[in-house]
Amino acid sequence: MTVIDEKKLLERVPTGLFIGGQWRQAASGKTFEVRDPSTNAVLASVADASVDDGLAALDAAVDAAHEWATTPPRVRGELLRRAFELVVERHDEFAMLMTLEMGKPLAESDGEVTYGAEFLRWFGEEAARITGRYGVNPEGTGRTIVSQHPVGPCFLITPWNFPLAMATRKIGPALAAGCTVVVKPASLTPLTTLHFVALLHEVGLPAGVVNVVTTRSSGPVSDAIIADPRLRKLSFTGSTPVGRSLLAKAARGILRTSMELGGNAPFLVFDDADLDAAVEGAMKAKFRNIGQACTAANRFIVHASVAEEFARRVTEKVQEFTVGRGTEEGVTIGPLINQDAIEKADSLVKDAVSRGARVLVGGSAIEGEGTFYEPTVVTDVAAGSSILTEEIFGPVLSIVTFDDEDEAVRIANDTEYGLVAYAFTRDLARGQRLIERLQTGMLGLNVGVVSNAAAPFGGVKQSGLGREGGFEGIHEYLETRYTMTPDPFA
Ligand code: NAD
Repeated sequence: MTVIDEKKLLERVPTGLFIGGQWRQAASGKTFEVRDPSTNAVLASVADASVDDGLAALDAAVDAAHEWATTPPRVRGELLRRAFELVVERHDEFAMLMTLEMGKPLAESDGEVTYGAEFLRWFGEEAARITGRYGVNPEGTGRTIVSQHPVGPCFLITPWNFPLAMATRKIGPALAAGCTVVVKPASLTPLTTLHFVALLHEVGLPAGVVNVVTTRSSGPVSDAIIADPRLRKLSFTGSTPVGRSLLAKAARGILRTSMELGGNAPFLVFDDADLDAAVEGAMKAKFRNIGQACTAANRFIVHASVAEEFARRVTEKVQEFTVGRGTEEGVTIGPLINQDAIEKADSLVKDAVSRGARVLVGGSAIEGEGTFYEPTVVTDVAAGSSILTEEIFGPVLSIVTFDDEDEAVRIANDTEYGLVAYAFTRDLARGQRLIERLQTGMLGLNVGVVSNAAAPFGGVKQSGLGREGGFEGIHEYLETRYTMTPDPFA
C-alpha cells in the first residue's frame, strides 16, 4: 500500500457541485463542513446546494438523457471499465478518503474500494448484454417484439456508511442502462463521491450524464427533484423512515423506485454448527464497518447448548480489537459516525441491561476525542429488549438463545425488517429449509459476509424494494417495451 499524504489528498478533492460537466459553487455561496469522526477535525468545506441548484442538476441530466441513451452500449461499458481501472489504480487514495470522512480502519476501506470498483466492472460488462426477444403470438397472427430501454433521468441518494460502494452500486447500472443521473451523497461523507465523480469526468464521461449535489438541506432539495415530472426514477439507500417518506413522495409522479433500507439481521448458530466458522463469521457480520452496516448481524440467536461457549469465544475475540483512528497501523475498530450514534448504541445496551442482560465486555462510550464506543458483547438478552427490535448500528453483539429450529426461525422472522440473515449449521437439509423459511432477501449460509457485485443485493418487508448488483441490478434502470407487429406472411 502506498502511504497517502492526507493533506495533499484533501487538496485534490473537489468541493463544488458537479453540474453539466462543470464544477461550481452553490448559487448562494453557502458551504458546510465535513469532519473526521475520529478527531472531529474539519476535513473540507463543500458546496451546500439549494433547491435551485438541485433543479439545475436535474436540467443537466435531462439535457444529456437522449444522447446518452443512444450512445452505443459498448461505449458506455468501456467508459465504466476505464473508471474501474482508474479506481483500482487510485485504490489507496479512495481508501484513505473513506477512512478520513467515515472512520473505518484502512484495511476495511481497502476492502470497500475493491467491492465498490467491482460494480463498475460488472455493469460495464452488462451494458452490452441488454437484450430483448422476438416471438410469434400463440394465434400466429402477429409477431411480438420485447425491448429494453433506459428509464430516463434518475435521482440517486446514498448513505454515509459505504461512501464509494453505495455510489458505484447505483451509478454503475444506471449508466450501463443508458440513464443520466443526479447523485446526492450523504452530507456526512460527500468527499468520496466528489473524488469519484472527478474521475468519471477524467475518463471522458459526457457532460450532464452524472451530476452531483451536496447539501445539508436534503429534504427540500430532494423533494423538488422528486416532484419534477421530468424525473423518472428514484433510487435510495438509507434508513427505513426516510425511505418510506420518499416512497410516498415518489408515488405522486408514479416513479420507478429502488429502496435499500434498514435491516435487523438475525445470525443463527445451531448446535451442529462448526463453532470456529460461526465465531469467525460473527466477527465479520457484526464488527465490519464498526457495526454500521445495513447487513450487520443485529441479533445472535444461538442454540442454548452452545450459547455459553459461543459467547466466551466471541468475547475473547472482541478483547483483541484495537480501537482508534482508522488511519493508524493495527487499528481494527474505528469511531462511530457521530455523537447520535454513540447515544443510540449506549441506550440500547442500557435498556437490555435494565431487563437482565449481562455485559461480557465493553458497554460504554470511550471518553475523549472522537466518537468511539467500546466493542461490546451482551448476553442473556430478554425478549422485548429494544436492542432486538432496532438497528444497533454500532459494535455491539447481543445474544439470545433458542431450543429448537422452529423457535429459531420464529425469533429470526419476528421483525418488520427482511434484508439478510446468517445461519451456521452443518445439516444440509436444515440449510435448505432455512432458505425457504427465513423472510429475508439474502442469506449467508455458513458465511458472515454476503455482499458481491455479481449477486442481487436487497431486502424484503420493510428493508426495501428492488435489487442492486447481479443480473437483476441493471433492470432497475430499464423499462420493458412491447411492440406488436402483423404476421409478415399474411
Ligand atoms: P438516512 O436515511 O438518514 O440518510 C440516507 C440518505 O438520505 C443521506 O444521503 C441523507 O442525506 C438523505 N436524507 C435524509 N433525510 C432525507 C430526506 N428527508 N429527503 C431526502 N433525503 C434525505 O440514513 P443514513 O443514516 O445515512 O444511513 C444509515 C441507514 O442506511 C441505515 O438504516 C442502514 O441500514 C441503511 N443502509 C441500507 C443499505 C441497504 O443496501 N439496504 C446499505 C447501507 C445503509
